[in-house]
Amino acid sequence: MAAHPLIACQHCATLHERVPLAPGSVATCVRCGYALYRVSTIALNGWIALVLGALMIFAIANYFPIVTLSIGGLATHASLPGALYLTWHQGHQTLAVMTGLFSFWFPLTQLLFVLWALLAIRKQRLPDDFAHGLRLLNHVMHWSMVPVLMLGILVALVKFAGMAKVQLGPGIWAFVVLTFLLTGLSRMTARRLWDFAEDAGLVRQASIDASQPAPVTSCLACGLVQQLPDHEHSEPCRRCGERLHYRKPDQTSRVWALLLAAWIAYIPANVLPVMRIRTAASDSEHTILGGVIELWGYGSWDLALIVFIASIVVPMTKLLALMVLMLRRRWRGPIIQRQRTRMYELVEFIGQWSMLDVFVVILMAAMLDFPGISQVIPGPAAVSFGMVVILTMFAAMSYDPRSGWDKQREEDDGSEQASTG
Ligand SMILES: [Zn+2]
Ligand SMILES: [Zn+2]
Repeated sequence: MAAHPLIACQHCATLHERVPLAPGSVATCVRCGYALYRVSTIALNGWIALVLGALMIFAIANYFPIVTLSIGGLATHASLPGALYLTWHQGHQTLAVMTGLFSFWFPLTQLLFVLWALLAIRKQRLPDDFAHGLRLLNHVMHWSMVPVLMLGILVALVKFAGMAKVQLGPGIWAFVVLTFLLTGLSRMTARRLWDFAEDAGLVRQASIDASQPAPVTSCLACGLVQQLPDHEHSEPCRRCGERLHYRKPDQTSRVWALLLAAWIAYIPANVLPVMRIRTAASDSEHTILGGVIELWGYGSWDLALIVFIASIVVPMTKLLALMVLMLRRRWRGPIIQRQRTRMYELVEFIGQWSMLDVFVVILMAAMLDFPGISQVIPGPAAVSFGMVVILTMFAAMSYDPRSGWDKQREEDDGSEQASTG
């Protein structure tokens, strides 16, 4: 058994020891360069305070209006729950559920479960359903999109700046703070919490019998390194219960099927209108690209560029990058493998940002809701666009970057020390 807990790189499966490092430093994988773990400068109590603060700000952000918009004596007070309620009642239930989960329910679940887990670790006694809770947290965190929502609020505000009297509410400032807090808290993943529990001596550590030929793999949810009877075998993780495979199953068919579905949804997402703007005098339909051109026309070239990147460039890049990763699987060599790892990291990083325009649409609909005078109504492309984002995110999750490194590993296998970076 190793002196320090064993961990495996999620990108290339190389084994390392999780050695204690100075606060603020990052351990990177010796083979692929992926960040294995970070050592926080904040102690456990600090994290608890941060989550409690984020929960309070979350309540303020959702209770108070983000913005008040007035046209000729009439006013709307737009808040996120109000926007979701309105979207639902306008008959766009799929859109309301999708945006509601990503902007409200998942961030809230994330905060509550992180708090619950941190308090349990602090008390030095883990509840029976600790593993259950962290598995849920692990799934929810990918889909928690408050920073994207914040950018959506800004874009919606700029679009209205010339049309109506806009007054900022307390909600918007709370969202700014919440964006920063949640960006910081995005580091508090389920794996990190398992590491905390491991360091506190509350959960089992990895123990590998090197004399056994059984293949070594690691749980993608909790990080525990363990052995399987053979490469095809799958069983629940011994620590957290998540399904454990040597490599993600049916990678080729799953990723291609999801990519194909995403390309199909990409067509209506761009061809159909994403929203309708109805005024007493006119009724116009707007596509995503049309919205970019409009923003440019208002003189906000910077926001036009952001929306263009988020809505057109990012989904396209994700789809093409995943296809390249799938097509060139036979290319070997450590340098190419490292580049492929960087490419996959990029796909994971940009994953949720293309949800931007979908948020913009529901926010605009909530801000400009004067039936008979001026009204924004979501169009069918909003749901298609959300589907593209969801499908590409699932495709990225079904891709296993470790499979590309497997051939490489035969040459130089073994456990190596984590290097600091
Ligand atoms: Zn690696
Ligand atoms: Zn596990």
